[in-house]
Amino acid sequence: MTRIILRGGRVLSFGDTPLAGSDVAISAGRIDSLGHVAEQAGDRVIDVAGAIITPALTDIHTHVYWGGTSLGVRPETVAHRSATGVFVDAGSAGAGNYEGLRAFIAEPSPFHIFAYLNISYAGIFGFGKDVMVGECCDARLLDTKSCLAAVRSHRDRIVGVKVRAGHMAAGENGALALDLALDVAEELGVPIMCHVDLAPPTIDEVCDRLRPGDIITHCCRPAPNSATHDGHVREAAWKARRRGVRFDVGHGRGGFSFKVCREMLDEGFAPDLISSDIHALSVDGPAHDLLTTVNKLIALGVAPDEALAAASRNPAGAIGRPDLGRIRAGDEANIAVLRWKSEPWPLQDAAGEIITVDRRLVCEHLIVRGQAITAAGEARPLHELAS
Ligand SMILES: [Zn+2]
Repeated sequence: MTRIILRGGRVLSFGDTPLAGSDVAISAGRIDSLGHVAEQAGDRVIDVAGAIITPALTDIHTHVYWGGTSLGVRPETVAHRSATGVFVDAGSAGAGNYEGLRAFIAEPSPFHIFAYLNISYAGIFGFGKDVMVGECCDARLLDTKSCLAAVRSHRDRIVGVKVRAGHMAAGENGALALDLALDVAEELGVPIMCHVDLAPPTIDEVCDRLRPGDIITHCCRPAPNSATHDGHVREAAWKARRRGVRFDVGHGRGGFSFKVCREMLDEGFAPDLISSDIHALSVDGPAHDLLTTVNKLIALGVAPDEALAAASRNPAGAIGRPDLGRIRAGDEANIAVLRWKSEPWPLQDAAGEIITVDRRLVCEHLIVRGQAITAAGEARPLHELAS
């Protein structure tokens, strides 16, 4: 079997593992060795000098139940351009339709696909350009028994419970849906991911309820009901962070404001997790994909290595799979090779503000589950990795 050597990049180890050098050798789908790797007969060497070698990114907030829900996108259409190997579906499915996400999307996929199960039995069933019906508006759908049973049956792929607490998804039921999701999560010992939009509930009420390890998504959403007020981070958000609540970007169609993100960063409140919230109404803009979202955080001053950690190491840890967010000998190969591309590039937030940057990170190579992923998102044997 051909051994592949990625030669001369800068390996991101996030300070976990000191690396002697800058090569990564991969054979039989696993990371064989790191550091200065000597070439042997039969090896294929790919020059990646000047590039960054990072764990393939983990997008912790996506909607990939394509065909089963109106908001789903196909993961293969964005994987390579966004350097993403791990897609976590955030509540597209509930107990009533999760089996399809598992059987038709996750199991046949060349990517790692996990899910937060929606507390609503039907998942996000009415989300489109012309139809918008919140899945928590009818309290009959908030059936905790079904949710508990489905998570228990699929604990290998379901990593927590999703709730869209907010006026759009829940009408007046936001706090009720959130409390039921917390009850289920508490009984199962899993985290929840909570979406915020317009009150009720207020962002203070959400922050006060979440437990260590729970995630608040759309954390840089524009006002009203944003994490900042009068230009400052709300006290409830600080308290939640000190308690161990994680703050996730979840860009989406309406969930990310440069202004709010700047206010948070000015006070040292960088998001713990960067995610795209790609769905049918955000994948062609303003969110586009995870790497575009990472580039937006970098544009606002987040150090590139920290932004990449928030899109790989941190979300992989949050779903209980730290192995998917690191580069270590012996692990399955999940690697992205990124390079800076210098050209003026406009980045737009959900409020319409545009920042034009003069360089951005682009994906050069993507390896997921030991296979080469093409630009079209197809998995090929690793020796077919493009030079
Ligand atoms: Zn979402």
